[in-house]
Amino acid sequence: MAEVFAIPLRTRFRGITVREGMLLRGDAGWGEFSPFLEYDARTSAPWLAAAREAAFDGWPAPVRSSVPVNVTVPACEPSLAASIVRSSAGCRTAKVKVAEQGQPVAADQARLEAVRDALGPSGQVRIDANGGWSTDEAAARIPLLDRAAGGLEYVEQPCASVEELAAVRRRVSVPIAADESIRRASDPYRVRDLAAADIAVLKVQPLGGVRACLRIAAEIGMPVVVSSAVESSIGIAAGVALAAALPSLPHACGLATVQLLSGDVAAGSLLPVDGSVAVRRPSVDPAALQRVRAGEGRRTHWERRLAEVAAVLEAQHP
Ligand SMILES: [Mg+2]
Repeated sequence: MAEVFAIPLRTRFRGITVREGMLLRGDAGWGEFSPFLEYDARTSAPWLAAAREAAFDGWPAPVRSSVPVNVTVPACEPSLAASIVRSSAGCRTAKVKVAEQGQPVAADQARLEAVRDALGPSGQVRIDANGGWSTDEAAARIPLLDRAAGGLEYVEQPCASVEELAAVRRRVSVPIAADESIRRASDPYRVRDLAAADIAVLKVQPLGGVRACLRIAAEIGMPVVVSSAVESSIGIAAGVALAAALPSLPHACGLATVQLLSGDVAAGSLLPVDGSVAVRRPSVDPAALQRVRAGEGRRTHWERRLAEVAAVLEAQHP
């Protein structure tokens, strides 16, 4: 059994305004298959493996009952940044976007000062440059932003390439996290081999499932931050299951993203309370699904897509 959803986003993300995906139902529960629309069948194969794991195999037992999550602050004015942190359902970690095209470093500094003020001295502040700096820019700006934030937990993807991350890591004392550098299952090993990061950001669907991510985490020997691909609560539950099963979880995760969507397919959405998301597995709610169910044309598109990606998976693992 499969359902197709199309949920408008509250704000544009990766250039899209509607998040589409498919929900697969198996003996173990619901799984989400929601590769981005431009992804070809090959790129989408691990996403289907993750959905099938959720639907048919279930996940390893959790070792914790809740997962701390971060609030995300966009590249906005300081006053808005502060109010986002204050209304973040108790999140004690803020991830602040920096390196926005056209903004001076002073704008990043002012935003970080406001976030630190709103969070208080005990909170954690991390920044995400989404690969926006050269190595020289990163080396010059990270110490300034570290000071403005009153200490940074880490900087996520300061530059675009793994080689640049490795170079920056040797020039600054703030820990480096690799996000965009990890898109396929082989990428985390490259990050490790080049000593390019201190922390790996892992997402369940692109890396092929919870077990695949647990294996990667064990083999790369660096702390993991579990992040979402902006999924419905069904997809987020897989990220929560990964974060819940990791032997150690020293950093808050990027799983508080259901609120970016204007609707959900579950009745009890996986939203943070007191800065954490509870480790549980929501089920698809017929009334909620009804409000976001995709039309006939999109359903046909996704059914065709599912068949194509399934054929790729079958060829890889006959
Ligand atoms: Mg990132």
